[in-house]
Amino acid sequence: MSKVLVIGAGGVGSVAVHKMATNPGIFSEIHLASRTVSKCEAIADSVKARSGRDVATYAIDAEDVPALSALIRQIGPKLAVNLALPYQDLTIMDACLAAGVDYLDTANYEPKDEAKFEYSWQWAYHERFKESGLMALLGSGFDPGVTSAFAIWLKKHRLKTIRTLDILDCNGGDHGQAFATNFNPEINIREVTAPARHWQNGRFVETPAMSKKVQFDFEGVGPKNMYMMYHEELESLARFIPEMERARFWMTFGDEYIKHLTVLQNVGMTRIDPVLYNGVEIIPLQFLKAVLPEPASLGPTTKGKTNIGNIATGEALDGSGEKTFYIKNICDHEDAYAETGNQAVSYTTGVPAMIGAAMMLTGAWRGEGVFNMEQFDPDPFMAMLNEHGLPWTVEELPGPVEF
Ligand code: NDP
Repeated sequence: MSKVLVIGAGGVGSVAVHKMATNPGIFSEIHLASRTVSKCEAIADSVKARSGRDVATYAIDAEDVPALSALIRQIGPKLAVNLALPYQDLTIMDACLAAGVDYLDTANYEPKDEAKFEYSWQWAYHERFKESGLMALLGSGFDPGVTSAFAIWLKKHRLKTIRTLDILDCNGGDHGQAFATNFNPEINIREVTAPARHWQNGRFVETPAMSKKVQFDFEGVGPKNMYMMYHEELESLARFIPEMERARFWMTFGDEYIKHLTVLQNVGMTRIDPVLYNGVEIIPLQFLKAVLPEPASLGPTTKGKTNIGNIATGEALDGSGEKTFYIKNICDHEDAYAETGNQAVSYTTGVPAMIGAAMMLTGAWRGEGVFNMEQFDPDPFMAMLNEHGLPWTVEELPGPVEF
């Protein structure tokens, strides 16, 4: 029985809080704080209507460390779950250290003025968390998060070593809009327009953004074009599965999405440096976010499925030579919406955030310092995925991927 504080009242925060509310044995008290308190209140109302549980709400600027530390001390949670934006990771970690509580997030730190995301900034907090006897769990969403647990599960139960790993992220959902992103547009567009990087023979190899495209037939969705891009779990996977020869990340995008993004890039609307407009400095990408649909608003109209999984090839545990396995989850947008009022991209992130929090609060995963998902036993986490809406399957493929 533990008290939890969730920070961030977007789509992911909403799903996590809804799912925590259905597990009162683990989450005995739920507190939700975000920049716009009305969004916290709307989530609390929905939770009350669906599960009868109360959620306490607060307005907070998570970049104001003294104010956030004071709020954490006032509430006294065992764990702070950061579901705000990657920009706030370090200030929330600072506040957790000041107030003496554990920390969890779903996306690694990014500075606002540079589209660069890597774990170094947060790994640098390891000694401070360790000395304080506190635990920080990084990247407990789907990707990163479940994709790391999938890889470690394969290493525990199927493969002695992993030679090649491909993470395939397909969103086959249709929201009926000409252009919209299914999670925070600013973060999504920064990620997609960054150069691609993949792990190859002990180092990262960089290629231009969206320059490698492959068609893949996704179960439950059908054939889709997927593009190789950089994703943050490649960094932790390369660290914790050091024998990998190659690790790549692929994400599907429709032709309409690519067309709109290309135009927006060409006209400068994805820039993250300030420009002067009517005497005021604005960041074009932040302005673009303000005119695009809020991801949370896509829930009622999105139909179709997501299909996210790992294909890994390596030496079989049972000594039967090289084998290839495909482990994945398929999630339905309309089912996710019916259950939590949010579409599947928020759902597939919010559920693992709730499960990661459950791992920490129950002591199933424990350590002092800063940890990634790959460092813990995947079994209890994977069991909860099956019980809480993200069932997964594993199958053997005839051979390694041919792309
Ligand atoms: P949203 O933009 O919908 O929600 C973010 C929330 O954080 C908003 O409520 C926002 O407030 C709040 N917020 C922003 N800045 C501050 C601040 N300074 N202080 C307090 N609150 C703040 O994003 P999502 O819910 O889609 O995503 C949440 C997180 O999940 C992001 O970090 C994203 O990168 C991550 N993510 C991870 C995935 C994974 O698989 N690992 C997949 C998808 C997302 P306001 O409402 O006022 O703007």
